[in-house]
Amino acid sequence: MPRDPRHDILFTPLQIGPKTAKNRFYQVPHCNGGGYRDPSAVVEMRRTKAEGGWGVIFTEQTEIHPTSEITPFIEQHLWDDRDIPALARMADAMKSHGALAGIQLAYSGINGPNLYSREVPLAVTGGPILTFTSDPVQARTMDKNDIRDLRRWFRNAFRRSHQAGFDLICLYGAHGFGILQHFLSRATNHRTDEYGGNLSNRSRFLREIVEDARESTKGELAVTLRMSLHEAGAFGFSNAELRDFIAMHADLPDLWDLAHGTWEACSGTSRFKPEGAQEDLVRGIKELTAKPVVGVGRFTSADAMVRQIRSGVLDFIGAARPSIADPFLPKKIEEGRYEDIRECIGCNICVSGDMTGSISRCTQNTAFMEEWRKGWHPDRARPKGVSESVLIVGAGPAGLEAALQAAKRGYRVTLAEATKSLGGRVAKERLLPGLSAWGRVADYRTGQLGPMPNVAIYRDSPLTPEDVLAMGVDHVAIATGATWRRDAVARLHLHPIPTDPALPLFTPDDLMSGHCPEGQTVAIYDDDHFYMGSVLAELLVLRGNRVHFVTPAVKVAEWTDNTLEQGTIMRRLLELGVEVQLNKAPEAVLKSEIILGCTWTGRQSALSCDALVYVTSRTPNDDLFQASKTLDWQAVGIRSLHLIGDAAAPGPIAWATYAGRAWAEGLDMPDRADALSFRREIAALEPGQSLLP
Ligand code: ADP
Ligand code: SF4
Repeated sequence: MPRDPRHDILFTPLQIGPKTAKNRFYQVPHCNGGGYRDPSAVVEMRRTKAEGGWGVIFTEQTEIHPTSEITPFIEQHLWDDRDIPALARMADAMKSHGALAGIQLAYSGINGPNLYSREVPLAVTGGPILTFTSDPVQARTMDKNDIRDLRRWFRNAFRRSHQAGFDLICLYGAHGFGILQHFLSRATNHRTDEYGGNLSNRSRFLREIVEDARESTKGELAVTLRMSLHEAGAFGFSNAELRDFIAMHADLPDLWDLAHGTWEACSGTSRFKPEGAQEDLVRGIKELTAKPVVGVGRFTSADAMVRQIRSGVLDFIGAARPSIADPFLPKKIEEGRYEDIRECIGCNICVSGDMTGSISRCTQNTAFMEEWRKGWHPDRARPKGVSESVLIVGAGPAGLEAALQAAKRGYRVTLAEATKSLGGRVAKERLLPGLSAWGRVADYRTGQLGPMPNVAIYRDSPLTPEDVLAMGVDHVAIATGATWRRDAVARLHLHPIPTDPALPLFTPDDLMSGHCPEGQTVAIYDDDHFYMGSVLAELLVLRGNRVHFVTPAVKVAEWTDNTLEQGTIMRRLLELGVEVQLNKAPEAVLKSEIILGCTWTGRQSALSCDALVYVTSRTPNDDLFQASKTLDWQAVGIRSLHLIGDAAAPGPIAWATYAGRAWAEGLDMPDRADALSFRREIAALEPGQSLLP
């Protein structure tokens, strides 16, 4: 299908200062949990974006000086000349298909606790460090000498960025993280000198630093400003003030890069934020400046992108997560391959990689951050090995991804699913409040598998062990999923608790299949700590129940700190009138009440309820695998039999799609059980002499 001519505008070049972007697809800076620790992994990840057709590609936050670093989060460093080679390799990869390469330079000020460098943090106005982790550290107020130093450190970073081969420099003043915003905002700037007070004074440092950037790079690099669209609070740098600032400095940068207020607001999950959520905050800003404007909005639809440009809201379509889920988004639109777009589901599992200091993964793009580590590609598959055929049992995220990757490799694929629908858990979870976008995990894969001539899909086909052996295939993957437990066993309780069978008990599987409590008052016990407990609380409130949310944790859905949702979830529950009971867990279930124990003091209290929903843990559905294993499967020519996804070890959806990919990638590969399954970089050793006198 040729490209819809209405989308042509997305492929018109546009100038950014001294550079010209080949199209309107602008990959804004995004973290990846690898950063300076995994330079080659990050380089290859960015290279796939270049190959996928992005016009502009940025690094993640690059810290310019050790007096400001945000350990434990792993970003980039440009601390001295020795950091240049890794970043030069990155710039080179970004430019490999005609994209402009950008570097985001950051100085975190009041946001950098300096846990690694141990330097005293420097801030526009001193005070406690404002991080996710409440580090017990304060920053010192910068004096004029410090400001001079900071300008020099920035100039060094500009020179190094130039030397590394970047085209664009982005100065980070968004999300409340960058010192540029700290200067602008009355919340963080209490200065009484020429850098504080009125807006012109608070803008002074930005004017100086942009001038310095131009001078240090001889005007050869474009300079962009990444700004927060709205900082909340009485003293925050509001949308109105931002507009005043842009009107006063219309020509200051070569491009305005606009992002919602906090990172949580900017990268909201699809549960709470639709596509294009920041449009109201951006509309009209283009009228204040002749410079191009970029904004984000988890855009995956070409029509929505075109509308943003045609209606004069944006010039460039900014994207972080859509570019992670599908690095080939621009190319697919360019070639009219709309049905091949792998849409971001807005789950923020990618963000969790950064938040946990691990390496990011993506629910949709299983190759993300595995391009170099494992040689995986988001769209291409390695050719198949010696064997011909595979059977995959279960069409959940693991089974669907396994089938798709094996089919792309060229194997003859049989996919058998017990139920009438494909998607496994996402076929059910997509019907829960706020989770409809998760259906994209199934839709993308079924859409791809459908037309493939080497794929046969059988629905309504619960296989037995004998069926598995009778299929005559070379390799078998059992991806039969998991079932939520009907008891309290999870993290706190490692064994079941005393239970009177008279109180109706429910699991998430019950609720998702439409089997819901009859009575009025329902207690949810959440020892899972991810999204399910709060989503079911919403569901029950919508059904008219009075809901008590009981958790042994200190806050609801505590793991969702890592997906930037925790505060929003808590607010939602309170707004819905859910009674939240923290630091409590059931110790006994009686006929019409549960006995709760305080996790700190053991003090007991009774909670009357008509039903109890356990959101605790899941039992792998591995019966088929265990039974098949006991049969003589090798005798019928099966070469390998594996258990994958939730059926092996229940986890988030991204773990299941990853497991499906890993299985398909491993087909006909030599058994390397004792070898490392991925490449990694080991730090080069410095000379070993001690510096001690
Ligand atoms: P995962 O997240 O690991 O993909 P899911 O629970 O989402 O796991 O999906 C498992 C799928 O396996 C479900 O759609 C389920 O209906 C299917 N299934 C379970 N047992 C069988 C079986 N014996 N034969 C075919 N399909 C099965
Ligand atoms: Fe989108 Fe989720 Fe992938 Fe992040 S992990 S890019 S939110 S699908």
